[in-house]
Amino acid sequence: MSAMLLNKEKWPDFVEKLAGKTIWAPQGEEAEMRFAPVTEGEAPALEYGNTRVPPKQAVFPQTETMFRFQLGGEELEIPKLEEEAVLLGVRPCDARSMAIVDNLFSWDENDPYYFKHRELLTLVGLTCTEPGLNCFCTSVGGGPASKEGLDLLMTDLGDQYLLEAITEKGEALLKAAGEVLEDAGDEQIKEKERLTEEAAANIKRNVNPDGIPEGLPGLWEDPLWQRVSASCLGCGTCTYLCPTCHCFDIQDEVEGFSARRCRTWDSCMFNEYTMHTSGHNPRPSRRERTRNRINHKYSYYVDKFDVIACVGCGRCINLCPVNIDIVDILRQVKEAL
Ligand code: SF4
Ligand code: SF4
Repeated sequence: MSAMLLNKEKWPDFVEKLAGKTIWAPQGEEAEMRFAPVTEGEAPALEYGNTRVPPKQAVFPQTETMFRFQLGGEELEIPKLEEEAVLLGVRPCDARSMAIVDNLFSWDENDPYYFKHRELLTLVGLTCTEPGLNCFCTSVGGGPASKEGLDLLMTDLGDQYLLEAITEKGEALLKAAGEVLEDAGDEQIKEKERLTEEAAANIKRNVNPDGIPEGLPGLWEDPLWQRVSASCLGCGTCTYLCPTCHCFDIQDEVEGFSARRCRTWDSCMFNEYTMHTSGHNPRPSRRERTRNRINHKYSYYVDKFDVIACVGCGRCINLCPVNIDIVDILRQVKEAL
């Protein structure tokens, strides 16, 4: 696969070459960054840590209309999902999360909504050169320049970006850019490797997950769950903004004789999530719900798909209003084993 160089001053030309595709890139203030479509002539904002809302919203929107229908009538309209898009500046942990979530949405059979978006998307990653305070991707199989889930990886080398194609889609993007790009040489590849090693060495949070997936079932009644969930508010932030969380609810919204069926993000940290119609709730308190969140990511998903469903992005730590810290929980799990 090819490796090319893009001079930063040629951004507008590069973006122009992607005409016909919607380009999504991080936008907004640092604390509120999220992926949104880039308007023509606008340079993507790539000097950022990570977006608050993960790019999962592009393939698994917070609310998505599945179809519209008329009560008592024949009319049934299924929304068209036919726009090719490039997601530019995805952090490697978030790209890995999509590869991990693909397992779930293709479990019994392919989820047509998810995969329609996914197939129309080209993922262009951005190597992390300055990891965040709570990043721990290297503990869970990732890294600052991990290529898993990406089609193309960009690395900021100062005045230029190094662009490395990973898949055919990435290669096609480089071809489409044509003369806007120059060939990369060994010097730039070595510089990228140096930056990546430096970034990995700067990751301060870590936990060794060895033994956790097998050990968690034996800690079912351990007092640690009460301890780590005592201050939880049940707000769901840690799951809504987690790139690997994928739970949803399906509802019909009716207005007069028109209706739509939509699916929306849900969270296992909500009381109603497991509430039975009888009123019984198998996860009646935050103790059980926190235990489920950790078991789901670090045990059930490993059993089912042989991969930890956490990419160490640190969002749940950064954004929890009461500072509940998954690395700290995992350390307590290790101590209890
Ligand atoms: S559990 Fe937390 S650290 Fe892991 S992927 Fe989700 S938000 Fe990121
Ligand atoms: S973000 Fe924190 S307070 Fe909110 S549900 Fe998650 S652990 Fe509980």
